[in-house]
Amino acid sequence: MGTIKCNLCQGNTQLLFQGRHGDYFICEQCRGVSLSPKYFPTKKAEKARYETHNNDVKDVRYQKFVSPIVNQVLAECSPQDRGLDFGCGTGPVIRYLLSQKDYCLAQYDPFF
Ligand SMILES: [Zn+2]
Repeated sequence: MGTIKCNLCQGNTQLLFQGRHGDYFICEQCRGVSLSPKYFPTKKAEKARYETHNNDVKDVRYQKFVSPIVNQVLAECSPQDRGLDFGCGTGPVIRYLLSQKDYCLAQYDPFF
């Protein structure tokens, strides 16, 4: 079994563990964890999976799911900072929640 390059910084990786969905590698440089690309879903399967999500920004379960990200932004950033929600999907709940605290967040999703 070979290793892969880090998806974030292209650094060298080492096998971290073999899970039921594939082999996971940890980057020696940034410590990012990556799934081996050979286990990536097709773009069509990926989009189909996203389309099964409940993307109602007012759904409290959805808000709770993203709360670790929202809380980290609130702790680390100020409303004067600018951010990007990459992969926001059709229901940009992070932008919705942060806009209530006067944060400005651009959004982008390669599928939607
Ligand atoms: Zn890395």
